[in-house]
Parts: sequence; C-alpha cells; structure tokens
Amino acid sequence: MDSPSAPPRVVWHTTESGTGNTSFNAVERYLRQIGAEPHIIYDPSTDRIGQFGPLNESARALRNDGVTRTNRTGRVCIQIEVLGRAANPFTSTWKPGKNFKALMDAIRSWGVPDVFPMGAPPAYPGSSRRDRHTWATKGGHYCHANIPGNDHGDPGAISPATLFKAAPKGDSTPPPAPSKPSPSAPTVDLSNLIDAARRDPKAAQGKASHPADVKPVEAALKREGLLSAPYAADGSFGSLTVAAYKAWQRRCGCTGSAADGIPGKASLEKLGAKHGFKVKA
Ligand SMILES: [Zn+2]
Repeated sequence: MDSPSAPPRVVWHTTESGTGNTSFNAVERYLRQIGAEPHIIYDPSTDRIGQFGPLNESARALRNDGVTRTNRTGRVCIQIEVLGRAANPFTSTWKPGKNFKALMDAIRSWGVPDVFPMGAPPAYPGSSRRDRHTWATKGGHYCHANIPGNDHGDPGAISPATLFKAAPKGDSTPPPAPSKPSPSAPTVDLSNLIDAARRDPKAAQGKASHPADVKPVEAALKREGLLSAPYAADGSFGSLTVAAYKAWQRRCGCTGSAADGIPGKASLEKLGAKHGFKVKA
C-alpha cells in the first residue's frame, strides 16, 4: 500500500452480471483476464465467496486519480465485487449467510468502522459525491460511485443498515476455551502415588501411605468402571487399585510391563484430564 498510515477502508462494487455459479465462474475468469481483480467476489444469492489475494495487498478494481494510486490508499483498501446490478441493489434481495459474516469479521479485524463516510450509497443511475478529502482521510465503507477519479456508478443504493445488520458485531462463535482443570481441582503428586502403589499392597489391609493423592485417582478409576464401589475411595492403593490402574493403562494403549499397575506420568495425566485432577510430576 502507498499510504498504510491512512485509515482502512472497503470499496463495494457490482459486477453488472447475473448471480449464481455460472456467472460467478465467468466473472472470476473475466476479472483475471482484464487485470481488474478485486480482493473478494461475493454472490449475495448463494453466500458463495471467493478471494483473489491477501486483503492487505493492493487489488486492481479502481482507476487511479491522477497520480494517486487509488487501489493503494489506506492501511487496507478491501475491494468487493458483488454479483448483481447497480440498478437493483443487492441488499434488497440477497441471502447473506456465514460467509458474509466471515467477510465482515475479516473487514472489522482490519479496523474498518461500520460507516459510509461519503454518505448514503447513491442510486444508479444518478450523480454522486467523489470527495477527495473524505476519501483520503476517513476509514469505512465506500461505493465505487464515490471514488475520486473514477466514473462507475456501482454498486447502487445498497442499504448500510441491512448490510451491517446481516453480520452483527460479536456474533461470530468464539473459539472454544482450552479445557483446563478448575482452580479447585485436586493435585496428585506422582511420586507419592508411585510410593503408595508400591507400599500399600504389601502393608496391612487398608494401609494408606498417601491418601490425599490416592483418593482422586481411585474416584476416577471408579468412574471409569474399573474399581468396585466398596474399595473406591479408601485412599489405600491396595492390590485392587493396582489391578484397576493396570486396566486403565491397557485402556491407554500400554502393553506388557508398561501396564504394571504402577502409575506413570502419561496415563495419570490422561486420567486427570478426563476426571478433573492435576498432576504434579
Ligand atoms: Zn466497480
């Protein structure tokens, strides 16, 4: 861009063609042939979208204004060719969907405000403002009909309210939060647990050398259906608990001596992630 410190903007066009996939494909080819690619081509009747190039690089759908390279004005100058005709504004007949929302999310992510600085989109045919100062200094959405040094009258009298309402701000689904144990989740010390698994089976019935570490693990094994209820939460890592843990290790894919019933870091972390305890290793 020539003036990346100037505010970010969008320019709307219409292709003066029909809608639907046949027009979409033909127009896409034509724009490449004549070297007038926008960034985006959009079909308002199907919500189909295509992208020609990165939004922060120059597109080629505008004429220069004297020496001003209009395609390169602003932090971004995102140009969108909408399938349809300027005489029949697309916002009165379209069916915007998730692709239109994604487009608006991308536009807003570049800091383009939801405004038309040159005023209401002018009807086609008709006359329109092409104010150089506004174009040079204000971020927002523009019609091709408002661009200095250009003579096209597209995209017609589209409705800004309808346009922005079709993609409400903050309406996109936020990415799922990474699953983390809650702050109150108990912490199991792996070395205490190994110590208990080695000592408790040999000690007197019910001997519990590290009950605070063993109890959350037994509760988890019980929930996995591997440890029967009466022994589930006594805090002693006895022979039944060793057998249950061995079954858990096999469930984790361990075989042979790796499934010996003595907890290891990987299988324990897996059990903790599933049943809500943290592991200190
Ligand atoms: Zn245009």
